[in-house]
Amino acid sequence: MTKLFGTNGVRGVVNQDMNSELALNLGKAIGTYYAKKKERPFIAIGTDARISNHMLKSACISGLLSVGCNVEDLGILPTPTLQYAVKEKNYDAGVIITASHNPPQFNGIKVVDGDGTELAKEQEEEIEDIYFSKNFRIVSWDKVGQLSSWDGAIELYINGILSKVDVESIRSANLHVVLDCGNGAGGVVAPELLRRLGCKLTTINCELDGLFRGRPSEPIPENLGELMKKVKEVNADLGVAQDGDADRAIFIDENGNYVFGDQSLTMVARYIVREKGGGTVVTPVSTSSALEDVVTREGGKVVYTKVGSPIVARVMKKLGAVFGGEENGGLIFPEHQYCRDSAMTIAKVLEILSKEGKRLSEIIQELPRYELVKLKTACPNEKKEEVLEKIKDIAKNENARKIDETDGVKIYTDDGWVLVRPSGTEPIFRIFAESKERKRAEELASRYKSYVERFATGTS
Ligand code: MG
Repeated sequence: MTKLFGTNGVRGVVNQDMNSELALNLGKAIGTYYAKKKERPFIAIGTDARISNHMLKSACISGLLSVGCNVEDLGILPTPTLQYAVKEKNYDAGVIITASHNPPQFNGIKVVDGDGTELAKEQEEEIEDIYFSKNFRIVSWDKVGQLSSWDGAIELYINGILSKVDVESIRSANLHVVLDCGNGAGGVVAPELLRRLGCKLTTINCELDGLFRGRPSEPIPENLGELMKKVKEVNADLGVAQDGDADRAIFIDENGNYVFGDQSLTMVARYIVREKGGGTVVTPVSTSSALEDVVTREGGKVVYTKVGSPIVARVMKKLGAVFGGEENGGLIFPEHQYCRDSAMTIAKVLEILSKEGKRLSEIIQELPRYELVKLKTACPNEKKEEVLEKIKDIAKNENARKIDETDGVKIYTDDGWVLVRPSGTEPIFRIFAESKERKRAEELASRYKSYVERFATGTS
């Protein structure tokens, strides 16, 4: 069967693979799935700022209504804002129309469970089964759903965040923040949140623009040149960039330097574990060892998962973790909600700066530093399993200190690690290597890349 859901919902190029028929039938499938649990499910729906949102949202709403769901339209909002509303209000599920950081021609549909978390794989598979078999619920004319709208989700969400950080401490620090929402959905929340936290605010790309004309949506260094320059130019304390649906936040220090996602993850983890006097932090196997170094030092422990924020969130919930997140700026605060949340991340980082009384660059400098090298190489999907088995054999023969098979294979050496992982969505292997020395990380990554290449092309 064709797989519909990727690691982050269903995504594609609009009017090619992501079209109104798909949205309509997916709406019917989602509604049918939830109608198995309840006669008349109540579903919240929202979108990011893309220009195809109305087309897809309308189709999806139609599908949901046709199978007997009541739908409430929450308008344009960040993904975590919808998730928070679903958790806090009496919705049975939520649907967000977004393609996160992808270019503007993409869009996607993501389903959120009644507790605000992203769906587990098995739930997505059940919805896929309904979608492909077209086994949709049929209701009589007098049972079709009703549509309402609610504009209170943003206020509910901002108040939720303000209740979980030390607002007085942040206000008294008088921080100057340059905010770059990348023309994404973050623009309807983050400027208002920062104002309420008493920050002096300079904004760039904070107006909604479905074409992302300000900058590409992914908050990687090459897309944040303007923000880095602006932070220095206006002498700000820090800069913040969000991705298109505002679940991820990336920081710029007061000198205009990019703070990598695993550094902000480590910084926040240290603060939280120290504050709580220990606890479990959950992260995928691809995260820098800096996190474990710091968390262990503060009396906590790190649990590793497969790559993907829904998995991290679910393990966090199961273990009662104090914190978790990914190395791409997606941080998860369990007392707030079990999903990546950029606005909560921004508020927490401001709290850290205000409480520690240090500049962002000073705090980052206190953290352990590793060199991370990321490579990828092509491999046909049907050969992935075989290649992975051969890589495991090689690792065993290379005196690895430890081999971790949580996701792909992670080989710990005496001076670092290398992770060889087949992509879940593309015909490639990703190879991450980390060590204190750049050269060593490069050497590890390129060696394992050449192993994958050799096995993938069958020239072994
Ligand atoms: Mg995102």
